[in-house]
Amino acid sequence: MNETTRIVRSTLTAAEPGKPLHSGPVFAAPYHAPGDPTGIPYTYARSHNPTWTDLERTISDLETGSALVFASGMAACTAVFGSILRPGDVAVLPANAYYAARVLAQDYFSKMGVTIRTAPTAGNAQRALLEGARLLWIETPSNPTMEIADIAQLAEDAHRAGALVAVDNTTPTPLGQLPLALGADLSVASDTKAMTGHSDLLLGHVATRSPELHAQLDHWRTLTGAVLGPMEAWLAHRSIATLPLRLERACSNAQRIAEFLTTRPEVTEVLYPGLPTHPGHEVARKQMRYFGPVVSFTLRDKPAAETFLRTAQLITDATSFGGITTTAERRARWGGDAIPEGFIRLSAGCEDIHDLLADITHALEATR
Ligand code: PLP
Repeated sequence: MNETTRIVRSTLTAAEPGKPLHSGPVFAAPYHAPGDPTGIPYTYARSHNPTWTDLERTISDLETGSALVFASGMAACTAVFGSILRPGDVAVLPANAYYAARVLAQDYFSKMGVTIRTAPTAGNAQRALLEGARLLWIETPSNPTMEIADIAQLAEDAHRAGALVAVDNTTPTPLGQLPLALGADLSVASDTKAMTGHSDLLLGHVATRSPELHAQLDHWRTLTGAVLGPMEAWLAHRSIATLPLRLERACSNAQRIAEFLTTRPEVTEVLYPGLPTHPGHEVARKQMRYFGPVVSFTLRDKPAAETFLRTAQLITDATSFGGITTTAERRARWGGDAIPEGFIRLSAGCEDIHDLLADITHALEATR
C-alpha cells in the first residue's frame, strides 16, 4: 500500500460495529495497574500513553524507524544531546544550525564538558571536524539560510570516525526527506512546523532504527518528563493524516514563489533548494522528495522588507513555518543569524498560487 494511503488512513480504528471511526484522546495520569506491573502496557502517563502510541506508530511508519514523541522540537533535540553526550565528548554542529539548538549546545552542554565544534552546512564543511567526535548533528536544509549537506556522505564519514549521526529534519519532514534511510542514526524534528501544519501545536519527535538508542531516549523522556499531553498528541495525529496533501501543495507553491522571485528586480537573492541555481540543488534532488515549504529571499534593506510584509495581504507576518497559511518574517529582527537586514524567510502555505503571486507582486512593487 502506498505511504500516502497509509498516512491518510492511519487514524482509523478497527471496524467494530457501533464504534467511532476514529478514537479520541486518552486522558489519564495513573492507569489501572494492580499487583506486579510487568506486562501491563500502561501504568503512569509520564512513561506512556495510548494516544502517543497511535501517533508514534504513524511517525515510525513515515520515518522507517521507531519514533518517540516529545513536548516540543527543543525537547526532542535536548533528548538527543542529553542521552548521548557525556563530559569529554565532542559534538559537531552546523555553524548555522537552528538558533536554540546551537545555543543549547554552546551555552549548556559545553559548560558540562562537551566540546562543540561548528562548521557551515554548505559544502559538507562539517566533514573536516569529525575526528574523535561522538555526535554529528546535521540540519539540511538549514534554517533560515537553506544550505544543503549530503546526508549519506556525511553519515558515512561520521560512522568511519566512530560518531553517531543525528539530522534535524524539521523543514522537509520525513515525507520530504528520510534521514534514517540515508544512513543517519537519529532523525529529529520539530513537529510544530509542517509535520502538523496548523500553527496550533508544539511538539517534536526523535526516530531511530537502533533499539539501544530508542531505549536511551525513552528513559530520558520518562526521567525528564518532557512529555506531550494527550490532547496535543491526538490533534497532531489528526493533522499528520493530511500531511501528504498539505506538503505537496505547500512545496509546489514554494517552488513557484521561488522561481517567480528570481525574476523580480526588487529581490537581490533567493535561497531555495528546488532552484537549479542553488549550490546544493543536485544533492537536494538526490536526497529530498520535496524541497520543503520555506523560501528565503533578500530585499534591499530593512525598510524594504518591512514594507513588503506590511503591504502583503495574504502573507501573515509571524515567525515559525510549515503552516497551511503563508507566513513570513524579517528574520534579522531576532538577531543571532548571519543574514542581511532585508532577509525574509517565507513559508508557503496551501492557498491558491495565483492569489499568492498576485499578492507578492503587489507587495514587491510597494518596496520600490
Ligand atoms: N529545529 C528547527 C529547524 C526549528 O526551526 C525549530 C523551531 O523553530 C526547532 C528545532 C525547535 O522546535 P520547537 O519550537 O517545536 O521547540
